Formats: sequence, C-alpha cells, structure tokens
Amino acid sequence: MSTIFDKIISREIPAEIVYEDDLSLAFKDINPQAPVHLLIIPKQHIATINDITEENREIVGHLYWVAAKIAAQYDFAKDGYRVVMNCNEDGGQSVYHIHLHLLAGITMGWPPFANNRPKQV
Ligand code: 5GP
Repeated sequence: MSTIFDKIISREIPAEIVYEDDLSLAFKDINPQAPVHLLIIPKQHIATINDITEENREIVGHLYWVAAKIAAQYDFAKDGYRVVMNCNEDGGQSVYHIHLHLLAGITMGWPPFANNRPKQV
C-alpha cells in the first residue's frame, strides 16, 4: 500500500530532505516535536516493524547508521538524541511505511507514554 512517504521519495510532494542514499531518505517532520525532528525512511516499502523479515532486516540497521551519521553532521551526537520507531495503533504509528523519528535539541523525558491506564498484556 502506498503512503505519503512514497510520494516524498518520488518527489511528487515536497519535503525538506537532509540526507539521501540508495537505500534511504531523511527529511524534516512536518509537525516537529523537538527543535530537531527528522524522519529517516527506507526507500523500500515496509509497512510496520511487524513486516521486517529475514530478507529486509538489514535496512533497519542502515536507518540507525544514517541517524548516527546525521547526529555527527549536525553536531548533536555528543549531547544526545532519541531515535524512535512507532508500531501500529498503540505505538502511535500514523504513516504505514516504517520510519525512525530522530529527535534532538532538547532533554528528553521518560517514560514516553501518556498517563493512561495500562492495558492488560
Ligand atoms: P508516526 O505517527 O507514524 O510515528 O509518524 C509519522 C510522522 O510523519 C508524524 O510525526 C508526522 O508529523 C509526519 N508526517 C506526516 N505527513 C507528513 C508529510 O507529508 N511530510 C512530512 N515531512 N512529515 C509528515
């Protein structure tokens, strides 16, 4: 299934792209939650973390490698940053094409969830 991120990859819709290689693309989130809020996505369509397979798993390591590369380039590697990948409804995923959120420029809080009653799992 095609998503808005496929349209960003194909340049059908604009985005502020900060990094690109054969496998991935990184661009600014349209609704930033931190002074730096980038999305790092594979060019290959993988809908959710649940769709990572033995064949495509290496791309996820690649996305983390890109995150570290950008952190060094933008000089927030030493101060620190957060990298998050949301999965499905409870994880807060809204675009079904896996992406790393790279957040920086502010001290992060923990835990990251809203103050809701935990589910029975
Ligand atoms: P998720 O909620 O799936 O973890 O994250 C999706 C992210 O994509 C959100 O932070 C949202 O602001 C961002 N987003 C959604 N549509 C667009 C878009 O058209 N352009 C950009 N740059 N970001 C988008």
